Amino acid sequence: MEAFNPEYQNAHLESKIVVALERISEAFRVLLWDAGKEYGLTPIQLQLLLFFNSHPPEYCKVNYLAKEFNLTKATISESVRLLAKKELIFKETDARDTRSYSIFLTEKGKMIASKSASFSKALEKPIHSFSEDQKKDFFHSLLQLIEKLNKVGVITVQRNCFSCKFYQPGEGNDYCNLLKKPLYRSDIRIDCPEHEPASR
Ligand code: SF4
Repeated sequence: MEAFNPEYQNAHLESKIVVALERISEAFRVLLWDAGKEYGLTPIQLQLLLFFNSHPPEYCKVNYLAKEFNLTKATISESVRLLAKKELIFKETDARDTRSYSIFLTEKGKMIASKSASFSKALEKPIHSFSEDQKKDFFHSLLQLIEKLNKVGVITVQRNCFSCKFYQPGEGNDYCNLLKKPLYRSDIRIDCPEHEPASR
């Protein structure tokens, strides 16, 4: 029996949660389609533009993007080729390794990324009505789920505190050894610019 069988699902809370997550991921996909449609972009093309707009050049490389989006390098390369054809990105060869390149947004790419980013507001808005405690618990449960999926290889790239070499778990509060400050539950970062992977 599996999660999508209603009989099994109704007797197992874990399965209901899985189905609820599937609904949310479906909503995410639909919102991405709608946001990209205006510019003739597929969801992954739009996700790449948004990623390039908010991450440093060392992450904007085909190898890293394949892990980030759980796609093959060939699929990422094809999306990058189409974005370059639409003049939304350009590539710059790595001075230390001429086989590797970083991807940057053109002015047109930046404009589209900025305008399209607001698609996420539709998901964010209902969360505003949650209490602070509900938001903290929800966020904490999601982080734990991501961490467990990362450990079994379902999610490959992490830039959250739990996978960072500066993270120090504590009895009361966790601590960031880089920022030199306690990490309260809502301070845990999901995509930290200072993140450095911990050795496992
Ligand atoms: S550097 Fe960033 S990811 Fe690492 S522990 Fe500190 S806040 Fe978290």
